[in-house]
Amino acid sequence: MIILVLNTGSSSVKYQVINPEEKKALAKGVVERIGMAGAVLTHKVLGGEEIKLAGEILDHKMAIEYVLSILLSKNHGVIKSRDEITAVGHRVVHGGEAFSASVLISEDVMTEMRKCIDYAPLHNPSNLKGINAAKQLLPNVPHVVVFDTAFHQSMPKHAFLYGLPYVLYKRHGIRRYGFHGSSHRFVGDRAAELVGKPKEELNIITCHLGNGCSMAAIEKGRSVDTSMGFTPLEGLLMGTRSGDIDPAIVLQIMSKEDLSLNDATTMLNKHSGLQGISGLSSDMREIEEEYKSNERARIAHDIFTYRIKKYIGAYAAAMGGVDVVVFTGGIGENSSMVRKKSTEGLEFFGLKIDDAKNTSNGSDEKLISTDESKVKCYVIPTNEELVIALDTMEIVNNLKKESK
Ligand code: ADP
Repeated sequence: MIILVLNTGSSSVKYQVINPEEKKALAKGVVERIGMAGAVLTHKVLGGEEIKLAGEILDHKMAIEYVLSILLSKNHGVIKSRDEITAVGHRVVHGGEAFSASVLISEDVMTEMRKCIDYAPLHNPSNLKGINAAKQLLPNVPHVVVFDTAFHQSMPKHAFLYGLPYVLYKRHGIRRYGFHGSSHRFVGDRAAELVGKPKEELNIITCHLGNGCSMAAIEKGRSVDTSMGFTPLEGLLMGTRSGDIDPAIVLQIMSKEDLSLNDATTMLNKHSGLQGISGLSSDMREIEEEYKSNERARIAHDIFTYRIKKYIGAYAAAMGGVDVVVFTGGIGENSSMVRKKSTEGLEFFGLKIDDAKNTSNGSDEKLISTDESKVKCYVIPTNEELVIALDTMEIVNNLKKESK
């Protein structure tokens, strides 16, 4: 079986061709600068060289056509005809309360997804453009949608409601949704496999630390809390996003600095976080390089790891204990310093990192807690595209069974 996984942004289309039965990516790439000068396709076949192809790519449909032609090409392709693609799996950021699992795309599903545009005005419209374009180009295969929010739909009301007038939840859907759901689900499931126990017997805390950062409390296989909220701005400190702040600060700054709504949104999302505090960079590698010599880089790093530790404590309390902590994402997989500082002092509840295991090279899957540590701590590389391919395969297989 071959699944084409698509992740469409406002000016980009990321893709992977995956054989889900073998859990193997055959090719991957990205089309960038769609609709702009200098549009380019970067493509890589498993085990091959990365190639770049410039072209005039005016919209998402042209971008996906371009992707299909390279996938079919003699020198850089991985399929011989479009018919080899069994199904397409699409990533969509926001599924609101309508979707708690991945689904086959139908007209009704499209209508529900359009209703979620209000919640993710920057992401959902591009995601939908990608779906429409792909359906036109590959009309005879099932298209499946996988939502970043779906995994967290199991949160109880006391975790997802804010202390705001209840009518705002009813009228505008103001509540915590949470994001990175596919990643939290993937590394949580994998952690249970590594521990060798059914996930229904484990309390797991997952830390997805990339440019965007979030944590989840996964109790017996179900997400019961997560740090991102109504939007991906809440919670941990991130590359350029503030994470948790007192909401009154926004009102105060808007008045003192004469900021418009747009300015305030940009400040919180683009000029805050590691970037805003350090004044140096949103990239964790640069922050760590300057940690010893630059005070603001040090403070940025300290805030980053302190907040992770606070959430580990909060989620352990919320679940009445924790068995496993998992680190993933670009920072979680690569920074031994972040992992160490975020878990230092947690020996009191049975979590102790083994320094040698933690600093061993590579970002591969590894256990980094000591043999005596009651709470196990793992680094597990995430693979959101594989989750999309596996969910798509499951839905395709169910369709086959139903049609028999
Ligand atoms: P995205 O959320 O955009 O998918 P990634 O998961 O790739 O991002 O994570 C990007 C972050 O990972 C950046 O802050 C980058 O600095 C960090 N990172 C990557 N490699 C390392 C490393 N070796 N040490 C510390 N941070 C790293």
